[in-house]
Amino acid sequence: MTPHDISTLDTDLSEQLPRIVTELPGPRARELLAKEEPFLSPSLIHVVPLMVDRASGCVVRDVDGNTFLDCVAGIATASTGHCHPRVVQAVKDQADVLLHICGTDFHYPGYGELASRLARLAPGPDDWQTFLTNSGTEAVEAAIKLARHHTGRVDMIAFRGAFHGRSTGSLSLTASKTRYRRGFGPLLPGVHHADYASCHDCPVGRTYPGCDIACLTESLERDLFQYTVAPDQVAAIFVEPVQGEGGYVVPPRDFLVRLREICDRYGIMLVFDEVQSGMGRTGTFFAAEHFGVVPDIITLAKGLASGFPLGAMMARPEIMTWPGGSHGSTCGGNPVCIAAALATLDLLEEELCGNSAAVGAYLKLRLETELADVPTVEGVRGLGLMIGIELARPELAGALTQACYQRGLLVLDCGKKAIRMAPPLVLTRAQADTAADIFVTTCRELG
Ligand code: PLP
Repeated sequence: MTPHDISTLDTDLSEQLPRIVTELPGPRARELLAKEEPFLSPSLIHVVPLMVDRASGCVVRDVDGNTFLDCVAGIATASTGHCHPRVVQAVKDQADVLLHICGTDFHYPGYGELASRLARLAPGPDDWQTFLTNSGTEAVEAAIKLARHHTGRVDMIAFRGAFHGRSTGSLSLTASKTRYRRGFGPLLPGVHHADYASCHDCPVGRTYPGCDIACLTESLERDLFQYTVAPDQVAAIFVEPVQGEGGYVVPPRDFLVRLREICDRYGIMLVFDEVQSGMGRTGTFFAAEHFGVVPDIITLAKGLASGFPLGAMMARPEIMTWPGGSHGSTCGGNPVCIAAALATLDLLEEELCGNSAAVGAYLKLRLETELADVPTVEGVRGLGLMIGIELARPELAGALTQACYQRGLLVLDCGKKAIRMAPPLVLTRAQADTAADIFVTTCRELG
């Protein structure tokens, strides 16, 4: 069967259940994998040998006709589901009239429209200003530059377990795995790391979820401010309001409240990196809303344009004080990506944020209840459709990812020994049931 034959087999892929019809990877996938291998950068991870032909909603089909339920969503990015017809139509319409003009030098209506809609949706007063980028790491780079420019200070604080990107500035903040940093130093000077409150492998012996914010006081105020860096030298504290790559860790509200207080006291910019937790992923537009904390700077990307390369760095006008020409981007805020983002915002506002909250709570409850007596599972946590499952041992995460793939469920590891579920926000209850059924059965068998 050729890929062409497969693609004409059905019309509504999004309704399909996972169905594995060949060994994995199948013959066509093996052939294509062997052909591409010599030409690809070996830095690409490729957690499973999945060669995707097409995808719709939460369902992905490979080149051999196997269908998978997608609980990864291109790493929490295909927010409106794969190829949502309204996003596809918006992209086609825009592509007919304007592909590129460069938002740094010229105007087009979409840029301002997206910025004003994001301003209304962001927490706190709605006078946020936005700089658009091509990716999450670029949004973080922009935040680093803005924070330094605005405060006239150099140093930055981030947290152990954090992931802020892979370009040199953002990589200096990233501290989720040494493999991201090994061999790339020296990175930016003046970056300090503290403990993320409520971390599941708490260095001071408190374990999730009973942790209080003493970690923060000890790690940040005592260890850093007393011994390493004076707070009046710090330009910004970068924090993921829900830690992503580091393990899908939800901090106690007080952690972020306390960070806000510290930043206010010392004139430090509080940057919420919402690249993974934003755009409805946690059941609210911004994860910040769960905690009632308004940051000074926000970074977004991933779900912003349903998979098109678009990121955003937002700040209030009193902070967005850099002058014309001090920062820019050739393709950041490309009109086609913006068209995808505007359609994405419509869908999130109409129903998908709510669906993320409701179906996320349902899936989490099922996993919590049914995994409670499985010895290899230590706990389930998360908000909305950002769900982490903490395992007993690191090697289980890889084994589970592979075993779920063999059964038609795509999941990804995170943290030291956790699995993340971050499906498209269109996940239905029936699909959540299928995901839970496969995941629980696989956990039980591995345990
Ligand atoms: N910040 C966070 C919180 C992320 O999760 C990521 C990517 O996973 C990034 C930044 C970097 O985004 P990108 O891969 O688009 O550069």
